[in-house]
Amino acid sequence: MSKLCLVPTPIGNLEDITLRSIRMLKEASIIYAEDTRVTKKLLKHLELNNTVFPFHAHNEHKVLNNAIDKIKTVELAVLVSDAGTPGISDPGFLLTRKCIEEGIEVECLPGPTAFIPALVSSGFPCDRFIFEGFLPHKKGRQTKLLQIAEEERTVVLYESPHRLIKCLGQIEEFIGPEREVCVAREITKIYEEYQRGSVKKVKAHYENHPPKGEIVIVIKGKND
Ligand code: SAM
Repeated sequence: MSKLCLVPTPIGNLEDITLRSIRMLKEASIIYAEDTRVTKKLLKHLELNNTVFPFHAHNEHKVLNNAIDKIKTVELAVLVSDAGTPGISDPGFLLTRKCIEEGIEVECLPGPTAFIPALVSSGFPCDRFIFEGFLPHKKGRQTKLLQIAEEERTVVLYESPHRLIKCLGQIEEFIGPEREVCVAREITKIYEEYQRGSVKKVKAHYENHPPKGEIVIVIKGKND
């Protein structure tokens, strides 16, 4: 019986890989990776030497059927992304769905992902939340922000550093300058930081300290 295992990889600190994730990587006959160079570096660090095949956003539709055929010939195949959990704003969903349709067992290991530490460290309610990933860049962005303005649950977004100030400006405009946010930057890395407060205040901070690195924006729900 073949199995696909989705293995989360560190989002910064290499100590965050679990013992079970290492064992799965070791035992896998095939590893599919978003960027084979990134994954080979991780494997080298773990003193592993598996063959790694590309599986990324630009080829996942094309290689899907071929990947399924290959997975059917082995006991264990693994999918990893560059960092964090595959399928979370990363390739993984299509392969998972197809494996399930084809009767291939699927398991996702628990492990690193950026949105959970950002959500929990924000100090905003995390009993109920929504994860929006990256907002659309153009079409639909304003509509989404207006929906978020009415959302009572905590909202989590991924954003790139060069769009952070613009995004905070849009939150200010469409959601309101006093809405509380938490910007989580470089989680698990040397320059990890959290900026909390009204969106107006957090935006002013980043206007004076241009942001670098990787970013999660957490927005407190309406009326919370
Ligand atoms: N699969 C990943 C996960 O499970 O979180 C997400 C991949 S997505 C392509 C990359 C985005 O995740 C970054 O642009 C950033 O928004 C967020 N991210 C990843 N690592 C992060 C970190 N160390 N600190 C803050 N945000 C991070």
